[in-house]
Amino acid sequence: MLRKDLIITIDGPSGAGKSTVAKMLARVLNYTYLDTGAMYRGVAYAFMKEKNPVEIDRFLRNLTIKFELKEETRVYLDGEDISEHIRSPEVSRFASQLSQNTKIREHLRVLQRKAGKSGGVVLEGRDTGSVVFPDAHIKFYLDADLKERARRRYLELVSRGINSEPDNVQEEILKRDRNDSERDIAPLIVPDGAIYIDTTGIDAASVVEKLQEIVRNCLLGG
Ligand code: C5P
Repeated sequence: MLRKDLIITIDGPSGAGKSTVAKMLARVLNYTYLDTGAMYRGVAYAFMKEKNPVEIDRFLRNLTIKFELKEETRVYLDGEDISEHIRSPEVSRFASQLSQNTKIREHLRVLQRKAGKSGGVVLEGRDTGSVVFPDAHIKFYLDADLKERARRRYLELVSRGINSEPDNVQEEILKRDRNDSERDIAPLIVPDGAIYIDTTGIDAASVVEKLQEIVRNCLLGG
C-alpha cells in the first residue's frame, strides 16, 4: 500500500541543520512543517515576560500563545507576532532551562501530537522521534561536529541581525547541548530506529536529497 501521509521526525543538537533541512523537505513533499523548538522558545519568551513569579500551572492556564504552521512555525503571544523575538541568545538559553519542566513538556507534547497525528508532517526538535512520535514512519537524527554547528549558528544569528562572537556561540551551544542531553525528562538521544546522518561538510540541499531518497523508498516499499 502506498502511504502518502507519513510522519517524519528529525532530531539533533543545535546547528545540525535540522530547521533548514526539515523546512526544505516539508516543502518538496508538500507536508506540514513543525518546528517544536519554536514552541519551547515561544513559551520561554512568554515566561520571561511575566512580571511576578508565577507558578507553572497558573502560567499555562493563562497562556494565550498560538502557533501558525506555514513555511516556518510562527509564534503569536497575546496576538503579537513574536517569531523574531524568540531567536535571541537569551531566549535560547532560557528555553533550554524551561524545557526541563515536566508540565511544560506535557503541555507542548499534546499540541505537537495533535498537529502531527494525521501525518503529512515533518517535525523537528530534540524529542520528536523519541517521545512525541516514537512510532513515526521515518525518524532521522542529524548531527555535525561542534565547530561546524557553531559556525552555522553564528551565521544564522548574523543573518537575523543579532550581534555575537563566534567563540561565545560555540560555548553557548555546548552548554545547551549538555542541558538538553543530560536532562532527566525527554533528553536529546538518537531515537530507536532513527537514521543517523552526519551533515559535517555537506550542504543542506544534498542532505535533503538524501532524506528524500529514503522517504521515496519508504513510500514505494509501503
Ligand atoms: O531547536 P531550538 O534551538 O529552537 O530549540 C530551543 C530549545 O528548546 C532547545 O535547546 C531545547 O532545550 C528545547 N527543545 C526541546 N525539545 C524539542 C525542541 C526544543 O527540549 N523537541
